[in-house]
Amino acid sequence: MLTLAVAAGAAGVCARLFADEPYARSRDYDLQHSKMALKFDLEQKKVMGEVTHSLAILREGTPQVAFDSVGLTIQSVTVNRAPAKFETTAEKLLVALPAAAHAGDKFDVDIRYEGKPAKGLYFILPDKEYPNRPKQIWSQGESEDTRYYLPTYDYPNDRLTTETILTVPASWVTVANGKLINVSKAAEGMKTWTWRESVPSSTYLITVVAGEFDEVKQSWHGLPVTYYAPKGRGDRLLPNYERTPEMMEVFSKKLGVEYPWEKYAQVMVDDFVAGGMENSSATTNTSSSLRSPKLLPEFPGDEDPLISHELAHQWFGDLVTCNDWGDIWLNEGFATFFEMVWTESHYPKEQADYERWNMVQEWLGQPSLYAKPIVRHDFDDSSEFDGNAYGKGGLVLYMLRRQIGETEFYNGLRHYLEVHRGKNVVTADLIQAIEEANHIDVQQFFDQWIYGAGAPKFDVSYGYDEGKHQVALIVKQTQRVEGRVGIFHVPVDVEITTASGAKARRIMVSKETETFLLPANGAPLMVLFDKGGQVLKATEFHKEKKEWLYQLKNSSEFADRGEAAQALAKMKNDDEAVTALGAALDTDKAWGVREIAADALGRIGNATAGKQLLNALDTNELPYVRSHIVAALGNIKEEPKIAEKVAAIARGDASFRARASALQALGKLKAADAFPILSAAVDADSPDDFLRNSALRALGFLGEDKAVPLLREWAAPGKAIGTREAAIASLGRLQKSNKEITTQVAGYLKESHYPIRYAAIFALGSRGDASAIPALQALLKSDDLSIEMAPTVKQQIARLQKTESGKGAGREEGDTEKGEEGDGVAQRLDRLEHLIQEMNDRLKSIESHLSKK
Ligand SMILES: [Zn+2]
Repeated sequence: MLTLAVAAGAAGVCARLFADEPYARSRDYDLQHSKMALKFDLEQKKVMGEVTHSLAILREGTPQVAFDSVGLTIQSVTVNRAPAKFETTAEKLLVALPAAAHAGDKFDVDIRYEGKPAKGLYFILPDKEYPNRPKQIWSQGESEDTRYYLPTYDYPNDRLTTETILTVPASWVTVANGKLINVSKAAEGMKTWTWRESVPSSTYLITVVAGEFDEVKQSWHGLPVTYYAPKGRGDRLLPNYERTPEMMEVFSKKLGVEYPWEKYAQVMVDDFVAGGMENSSATTNTSSSLRSPKLLPEFPGDEDPLISHELAHQWFGDLVTCNDWGDIWLNEGFATFFEMVWTESHYPKEQADYERWNMVQEWLGQPSLYAKPIVRHDFDDSSEFDGNAYGKGGLVLYMLRRQIGETEFYNGLRHYLEVHRGKNVVTADLIQAIEEANHIDVQQFFDQWIYGAGAPKFDVSYGYDEGKHQVALIVKQTQRVEGRVGIFHVPVDVEITTASGAKARRIMVSKETETFLLPANGAPLMVLFDKGGQVLKATEFHKEKKEWLYQLKNSSEFADRGEAAQALAKMKNDDEAVTALGAALDTDKAWGVREIAADALGRIGNATAGKQLLNALDTNELPYVRSHIVAALGNIKEEPKIAEKVAAIARGDASFRARASALQALGKLKAADAFPILSAAVDADSPDDFLRNSALRALGFLGEDKAVPLLREWAAPGKAIGTREAAIASLGRLQKSNKEITTQVAGYLKESHYPIRYAAIFALGSRGDASAIPALQALLKSDDLSIEMAPTVKQQIARLQKTESGKGAGREEGDTEKGEEGDGVAQRLDRLEHLIQEMNDRLKSIESHLSKK
């Protein structure tokens, strides 16, 4: 799954309302097959169901069987067709067996029920504000929400086949797990769709989707590959999703295990509560991944991380499934790793390098993750779906591949998938499979990276002995050794460049302080520690400026040039550093390094940096690089020339992304003529409201009260959801003492639109108006908080309480942007909010773990 909060790195701090069970359950029975027939009452948002569970008793003398069931009214239960006694509790349905059963006894338990699911199953319907929205009903089971619409065994450590029978209006389309068996006429105006999944999987992977959808078909090796969009958006399917069959080919080949299901469907739905969900054979994704074809040229392959992530789950997560939530990295770490595998196979090397670079930066940017191991069972105060399971998990697999070799790595994965196909797994199963397949020992690797916590923090320096022709490289591990964090054993590639060339060698770092004596046939021009950035780590390498300059210009690998750019950015008023960054921005062969250089110049933020950025606009055509350049210009204040240029770009540039960045930069620069430009941009139409939404966000940065009526207008129900999100976010920043705004925004907490709720939660936190606390607390008590919303609500309540008690209610400084280094809570939350905004802008499709909390 890609949850929004995970994507924002929000997990790991605040308490969940309902923590997931950390350890696998003991089982009384094995659920083998469920046949479920569902009908829906749209008016009441109700499900009427009949489910027949075929199960086999595992425990001798079992008197009753328990199913997870929350908020459902059970009408009748039969066991082997005879009426059975049952009782319900708040979370369970208990069904008496005719007599204490023997292990191996088989029963069919039939349950008729109905209910209005608080979560698990969502009804997206037209209403008076959105009369034209296509009707959609969809489910989201992970982690423990299937029980809200289906009484079942709702923990991953059991697997079953399914038959899903959905009766819906004749004009609707349905999607469920497995093969479509039949569509038949039902009562007047209705049809009944029957789907059958013959490969067993866990109940959190059950999917039910029904509604008004457009469908487009492709195929892979004869298997149906289908895409669904809410009706009217079918033309957006192929432009965004057509690389799916190629991904299936790449993953099947790499793994040596064919795509394991009978079809692959991807259904895009509105108001989805996550980014994507890998239901077996039928993924559900947010419809915001259906970008307008007019914008797509500026976002090449931007949906690939989402598509490849959910596809990889079809092996890792669905074919083999974590046995308990403590091992969730076996799902999420692999899915994240395969995003990189796809990029490596389809795009230039520099792009994969950039993706990995960003993942490393994002993980390092979340200090709350550092002390926690990847496998853990103590997540009841936070969430198991954190940046360790995702980003760090993916990076650890990347390091494992490098350490044991590509062939050995995939041999191990193939063996793991073959041995455990259709089963539940823990991390020890993966270790054993890799060892069996390769006759190598990887225990230490897993001990330090998976069961241990953190990553090495290196302090590196060197000296050159001319007499001995030798470099003495001093490597210290400065991380605090405590808890689960130890001293790391890591192979590191070191490269020494002298006048006569470069020479690389691999050293094994394994002590707190070590000196490596390395031959060199002259004074080094450059010494690289961990060439190419292969290791997850933080490094302080004490180098002279001239070596950083040399490295930025001459090193062959992306990560080494990126590292040099960042080091030079720290030399604030150094013209030589600025000039070098400007040159990199003009000429570096990797566009990612050009973006990093632009960001670095923005961070330096002086007039010389501004000049370099302005010049670079002439040499950089790529819309995404231009957008970084313009965003960096937004940091360079009091330079009239810059404001003029930015305004010109905002008014008209070939690139939508550059224009959007320019609108935001105008807000941040608080340029004199910003307001008319921004309000004109709010009025103009663009694909996906791309420019309008940017302008609305920019009005928040601009901070002029006269924007308030405009923002309140565009925040109101009836406007496009993405536009409302932008306007609501900006209302969080303006007229913070105006209670009317607080009341308006708090009103949005009650809306059913998930993105609107999220925007309102953050905006209320930003406003710092403690009168919003009761509304947030009421939201917290409502029973329909999906997935990760509860921690976010708590964060914002804590933020408001802090404002109220600590620093006086009028405190507004905390959430203005003061640069990268500050670490105040308000600022970190602000960055989180910013990240959420950015994700919305990028259509919520990219897994990113940037923020602090
Ligand atoms: Zn996932």
